[in-house]
Amino acid sequence: MRSAPIFARPAFLQDWNDYNAVLRVQVLEPVVAESVVIIGAGQAGFSCAMRLRSKGFPGTVTILGDEPHFPYQRPPLSKGYVTGKTGVDGLALSGETAFADHGVTFLKGAAAQSVDANARSVTLKGGRAIGYDALVFATGSRARRLPDAMGMGLKGVHTLRGLADADALRDAVQDARHAVIIGGGFIGLEFAATLAAQGVTVTLLEAAPRILNRVAGETMSRLVAEKHRSHGVSIRTGVTLERLDGVDGRFTGVSLADGSNIAADLALVGIGGLANDELAAGAGLETKNGITVDAHARTADPAVYAAGDCALFPIAGTMMRLESVQNAIDQAHHVADEIMGVHMPYAPVPWFWSDQYDWKLQTAGLAVAPDGEIALQGHREGATAVWYIKHGRAIAVDTINDGKTHMAARRIFAAGHALTAADISAPDFDPVQVMRGLKN
Ligand SMILES: Cc1cc2nc3c(=O)[nH]c(=O)nc-3n(C[C@H](O)[C@H](O)[C@H](O)COP(=O)(O)OP(=O)(O)OC[C@H]3O[C@@H](n4cnc5c(N)ncnc54)[C@H](O)[C@@H]3O)c2cc1C
Repeated sequence: MRSAPIFARPAFLQDWNDYNAVLRVQVLEPVVAESVVIIGAGQAGFSCAMRLRSKGFPGTVTILGDEPHFPYQRPPLSKGYVTGKTGVDGLALSGETAFADHGVTFLKGAAAQSVDANARSVTLKGGRAIGYDALVFATGSRARRLPDAMGMGLKGVHTLRGLADADALRDAVQDARHAVIIGGGFIGLEFAATLAAQGVTVTLLEAAPRILNRVAGETMSRLVAEKHRSHGVSIRTGVTLERLDGVDGRFTGVSLADGSNIAADLALVGIGGLANDELAAGAGLETKNGITVDAHARTADPAVYAAGDCALFPIAGTMMRLESVQNAIDQAHHVADEIMGVHMPYAPVPWFWSDQYDWKLQTAGLAVAPDGEIALQGHREGATAVWYIKHGRAIAVDTINDGKTHMAARRIFAAGHALTAADISAPDFDPVQVMRGLKN
C-alpha cells in the first residue's frame, strides 16, 4: 500500500470537500479500470454507475439488471404503493434516459449467470459473455421464505421485495378482510399499518418476545407495538407458527404450535432477507449470507467489489449487512471512488427511516450491543428519542417524529463527538445545540 503525498488535484474530484477527503486517504493510484460491469440494477447498482460518471470515469460502464424495469425505489412498496397512493412513476430513481444520457450501457432483463474471475468475464443467461476490469456485485437481497412444506406456496401467501411482489399484494389487498403478517420487522409493521388504515383486520405474529427485536431496543419496541394496537392491529409475540393452512391451494389461515388457529385470507411473510450472494460464491469468493468485503468494499479478488444489501462488511467491530437506502447509496459511491483510485475506509454513520401511520421513525448510528437506553421527549409534541448507550457513550438514536434530533445525531456521530450518557441525561440537553457547537 502506498501513502505518497498528493500534490495535484485529480480531475475527477469536483469539489473541495472531496479534495480535502483525498488528503486523508491512504492511497491514490492511477485509474486502472477501463471497463466496469455492475451486476444488479437496484439502488446500489444505479448509484455506483452514476457516481462513476459524475466523477469523470472515462471507461465503459455496463449495468446488468435481471428485473424488467429501470432501477426503482423499494421503500414505497410497503408504504403508499400497495394501496395505490404512490403510482409506479413515483418509484423511479430517475428519468429512464439517465443511463443513456450518461453513457452507461443498461441491459434490462439481463440475468448474470456466472462469473469467471480468472478470465474477468460475466456470462449472462443466454450465453453472452462480457469482460471487465472491475466488477461490482450489487445484487441486493431477497425475502426469506418459509419452507414449502409449511404452506408457503399457497395462493394468498406473499412476500414483499420487488415490484412484482407489490403488484400481487396490491391486487390481493382489494379483497382482503383479515390479514396475518408473519414477522414483526419493519416491512411487516409497515404493511400492517398500511392494511389497518384500509380497514383490514390485521394480526401480526412474532416469534421473538418483542417486535423489532433485532433492530431496536425495548422502549422503541413497546412504543411501536402500542401505536399499532391503538390502530386495532393484534400483535402476538413469542408465537411459534406451525403452518400456513389452505383449502384447494388457497390460504385460509394459520395454525400455531399452541394448537390455536387464526382464520385469514391474506398472509405476508416478512421474516427477513437473504443476500443474493450465490453468483459470488460460484466465482470462488467468500460468502456468509453476504459477500465478504473489507473496509474498502473489496472482495479477496482485487478486481471485484460488493455494495448494498448483498455486502457483508466490517462496521462497529463486527461483520454486518445493512439493508438500507443509505448503505446502498453510500457504499456504492464508495466503490465507484475506489475504482477511481480513491482508497478510504468506508465508515458511514448508518441511518434508516420507516413510515407507520402518522409516525416517521428514524434511526441514526448503529446500536450494536448497547448496554443502556435513555428515552427523552423530542422537540415537537409527541416526538420521542431513544438514545442507545455503550460504555457510557451514545452510539445510536431512534426517533419518532423528531427529525431535528435525527439530523443532529447524524452530524454528531459523523464528527466523532463523544456524547455521553451524562450529557444526554442533563436537564438542558439539546442535540441541536451540541451539533451547532461542533467544530467545522
Ligand atoms: C418493501 C421494502 C421497503 C423498504 N423500506 C425501506 C425504508 O423505509 N428505508 C430504508 O432505508 N430502506 C428500506 N428498504 C431497504 C432498501 O430498499 C434496500 O436496502 C435497497 O433497495 C438495497 O439496494 P440494493 O441495490 O443493494 O439492492 P436491490 O434494490 O434489491 O437491487 C438489487 C438488484 O439486483 C438484481 N439482481 C440480483 N441478482 C442478479 C443477477 N444475477 N443478474 C442481474 N441482476 C441481479 C435484483 O433483481 C435487483 O433488481 C426497503 C426494502 C423493501 C423491500
